[in-house]
Amino acid sequence: MGVNYQICPCGSGSIYTDCCGRIHIDINTANNALELMRARYVAFVYQYGDFLEISHHPSTRSNFSKRKTMKWAKSVEWLKLEILSFSELNEMIANVLFKAYYIEKGKIEFIYEHSTFNKDLGYWTYVDYLPI
Ligand SMILES: [Zn+2]
Repeated sequence: MGVNYQICPCGSGSIYTDCCGRIHIDINTANNALELMRARYVAFVYQYGDFLEISHHPSTRSNFSKRKTMKWAKSVEWLKLEILSFSELNEMIANVLFKAYYIEKGKIEFIYEHSTFNKDLGYWTYVDYLPI
């Protein structure tokens, strides 16, 4: 069974190609920041560094090292994404609070982040994170 028929790792319950897979092919198909957030999580799971790069806003992209991130993403076992809140401040700005769980060196760890997203390029991108 190829990756195309798998249930999407983002936790939606949908088939990957109907869910984050379509966003990985065309970032413009992310209908909101939450869909982009899910697609970014799945890009960590599948180590799609190019997608993480293009979905990272150019103003903060220098904070992102594709090589280092991919090396790390490959070294851990991704467990699940938990969306804690999603708020759209307006049509161009949105925030997502999430936990992304993984196993590193035999221990369950998680990323807990309040991410900010922007649509000023015409499609949603990850910009930065807020203090929690
Ligand atoms: Zn998905």
